Amino acid sequence: MLRPIVRYGTPGLNTKAAPVTEFGPALQQLIDDMVETMYAAPGVGLAAPQIGVSLRLSVIDISGGKRSGELLTLINPEFVEREGMQLEEEGCLSVPGFNATVPRPARVVVRALNRDGVVRTVEGTGLLARAIQHEMDHLDGTLFIDRLRGVKRDLILRKVRKLQRAGTW
Ligand SMILES: [Zn+2]
Repeated sequence: MLRPIVRYGTPGLNTKAAPVTEFGPALQQLIDDMVETMYAAPGVGLAAPQIGVSLRLSVIDISGGKRSGELLTLINPEFVEREGMQLEEEGCLSVPGFNATVPRPARVVVRALNRDGVVRTVEGTGLLARAIQHEMDHLDGTLFIDRLRGVKRDLILRKVRKLQRAGTW
């Protein structure tokens, strides 16, 4: 089932999400819904707070569903390693229409549970490293625009407020 994606300005997007503790049918359905919603958007990552669920859970597929075996479900993820630096544009399904260059480590290793509750280690470089960090930020209530400074951030927020006032956000 497709779930509505909440946008910047929704309080839940700025809240630290709670760990997942139950791996029953409700969680399996939630994950299926998140994958379906991510692909439909279309996007390469979606975190549970973006559909109004305050849990430490995200799905990522940097191929957008084009290549099998690339779908990741990261539950209660924690960084094991972070190194290097990359500067690339990124956007967010909760801040549609806006992109900005955000500095991120070039390589990450995270430890997370998969949908069966099994611990696994995932390594990512380039876009995958960026997507993992972007989605993990969501679990702590941080959006990519929170990582911007000064003029660039102000410009995006001013445009968003204008859309909010117009009722088109
Ligand atoms: Zn996002």
